[in-house]
Amino acid sequence: MPEREPQPICPKCGYDQSGAIATGEKQCPVDGTCPECGQKFAWADVFDPSRVFLPWYIEHTGKKRAAARRIPATLRNLLLPNVFWKKLSVQSPVYPKRLWAWVATGVLALYALAAMLSIALTAYNTFRWNQLATDAVTQGLIPSSAAAQYQTDMARWSFWSDLLLDQFFTPWMEFISGDDTASQIALILAGMILLWAVILVVIPVTRRLAKLRMAHVHRAIALSLLMVILVFMLTVLTGAVSNVLRYAGLTVTGSWGNAFNLTQARFVQADLYARWVVTVLFVATLIWIQWFWIAAILRGWQIRSFMLPVLGLIASLLAGYTVFLYLTVYS
Ligand SMILES: [Zn+2]
Repeated sequence: MPEREPQPICPKCGYDQSGAIATGEKQCPVDGTCPECGQKFAWADVFDPSRVFLPWYIEHTGKKRAAARRIPATLRNLLLPNVFWKKLSVQSPVYPKRLWAWVATGVLALYALAAMLSIALTAYNTFRWNQLATDAVTQGLIPSSAAAQYQTDMARWSFWSDLLLDQFFTPWMEFISGDDTASQIALILAGMILLWAVILVVIPVTRRLAKLRMAHVHRAIALSLLMVILVFMLTVLTGAVSNVLRYAGLTVTGSWGNAFNLTQARFVQADLYARWVVTVLFVATLIWIQWFWIAAILRGWQIRSFMLPVLGLIASLLAGYTVFLYLTVYS
């Protein structure tokens, strides 16, 4: 990705500082103050942004491998938004394209993961059905001539090609229609992120309060979306584990009162814990998103306004609630 030429602009609001440079040439000051937003900055940082690069942050390297190695440290720092935004000051350069590339990679990885899990589960389920039909014949429950109608020939190429085609479209369809837990959670969280962005860049009154370059908002949207993608992945994985347990006959749907034996009762309990984990994860991410944006405004972008975080919080929570209502009414 091409590095942008450092321009003499205010790192926070993007105001052109050429005028200040022209008048300051005689005195040659070390620090500057933006006449537009009041942000203080060091002139050296404006002309050489690499001075404020963070050595652990994915956005601050143009090399893909180096960036991949920085994922764990970046996520670790993101867990505590106020610490993250204290380290990542408004002066540090923003490369929204790099972050959006990570979001796209995350979505693709998630899609591949969901499709693979779906294929594996369906294949396993088919395998179990075939086995049950064979067992039924062995036990004399059904005649061997009837077994074929319950069985699917898994050695056939068309079985796998149909499965592949079918499953590669299913996760997206479910995501769009929002009729499973993981996508419902993701849609609610995405709605909350969207409204923070709307408050900061779309609504004129709050936009004037913020006086912020678009790039900073881009960064915050991309980073919070990355967190939502991670939560989505964990939710999909938890769902897959409970499906495997059910297909394997280790657990049953509903309460443990439906269980036939002790093993099933234990796994029903484990499945229940998994659902709890998903709920806790959802609530934690909901709180994290609010914390992340409030910390971004007050710490990262140093916007001295209490109106902005309060309005953003209300708008974001309302957005989440609206999506939640929409999903419960229409699904
Ligand atoms: Zn400025």
